[in-house]
Amino acid sequence: MRSFEKYFRQNRLPHLWCPGCGNGIAMKAIVQAVERKGFTQDNTVIVSGIGCSSRASGYMDFDTLHTAHGRAIPFATGIKLANPELNVIVITGDGDCTAIGGNHFIHGARRNVDLTVVLFNNDIYGMTGGQASPMTPLNKKATTAPYGTVDRPFDACHLAQAAGATFVARSTAYHVTHLTDMIEKGLSNKGFSLIEAVVQCPTAYGRKNKMSDPSKMMMWMRDNAVMKAAWDKLPAGDRGEKFEIGVLYEDQYTDYAAAYEEVIDKAGGNK
Ligand code: SF4
Repeated sequence: MRSFEKYFRQNRLPHLWCPGCGNGIAMKAIVQAVERKGFTQDNTVIVSGIGCSSRASGYMDFDTLHTAHGRAIPFATGIKLANPELNVIVITGDGDCTAIGGNHFIHGARRNVDLTVVLFNNDIYGMTGGQASPMTPLNKKATTAPYGTVDRPFDACHLAQAAGATFVARSTAYHVTHLTDMIEKGLSNKGFSLIEAVVQCPTAYGRKNKMSDPSKMMMWMRDNAVMKAAWDKLPAGDRGEKFEIGVLYEDQYTDYAAAYEEVIDKAGGNK
């Protein structure tokens, strides 16, 4: 069996995630995709924001940057523009990416910065105690919504597509091989890629919503995730809690670093 130990800082383990948390599965999928792509620990940078998911950067033995809440994408943009040869991966959560980081997210997509953003969606703010995030499903409970949230959730994939991302995909911690495939495809895209990884949070989300058993949360993913081709044929009335997974959108457009090079040329900076 292939060992991935070299990709993790052994002196930072054990991790602080709760037993049964899905974050470790998504983190492992990232390093598997990195290895498949032939990227190295020296030409790959991991940037994260704040939250349970964003602790991943501390465990991963690459050049890493654990930034401020919601600010991973602007830090990553700076890294990419300073050295476009680097492979830059952003790890973020649903709260980090779509609340305080929401504007950075849509403008990173609009600029088509060549980043691979892996959004660990656990449906809640885990680290700070279970508050509803902008991606908490309607009517689900949180410490800030004891009777169920009334706010309609963002679909981060639709948001990224509408904002200009050139690769958008979703998968889950249950579909780990598929998740790895989606991340690998995102790494192959020259432009802004979003991969939403639906992960289980038995502690902050599950306990509040009668799903504190992580295996049951994964069975829920198995039963409700629908491959895009089947989703497109599924009548709206039959969708219920189901959600689509797979490559949801792909396009091609000049990436931000290349666009900047053109500006530098026009200004005579490359002469
Ligand atoms: Fe994972 Fe939830 Fe625990 Fe955070 S609170 S470590 S997301 S299970």
